[in-house]
Amino acid sequence: MGLPAKKSSRSSKRRRASHFALKKGELSFCSHCKKKILPHHICPFCGYYAGREIIKIKIKTKKGKKKKEEKLEKSSKKKKNEPEKK
Ligand SMILES: [Zn+2]
Repeated sequence: MGLPAKKSSRSSKRRRASHFALKKGELSFCSHCKKKILPHHICPFCGYYAGREIIKIKIKTKKGKKKKEEKLEKSSKKKKNEPEKK
């Protein structure tokens, strides 16, 4: 193994390291839902790629909607119950 002939100074080390920072990856937009996605990947939000639905993504949205609906129902029930009590 070759060894460095001389100690590299603090400044030369830091100067070299000035180019080590990672660049931000570029994102493309989904053709279906227009959200930012990784290029050449199936959209994780709607499951579309090249204008076709490849994966059906419904579980997450359904659960979220159901929870919201349940909350709404509960709140509406409470609201409905309140006037009955009065
Ligand atoms: Zn999409």
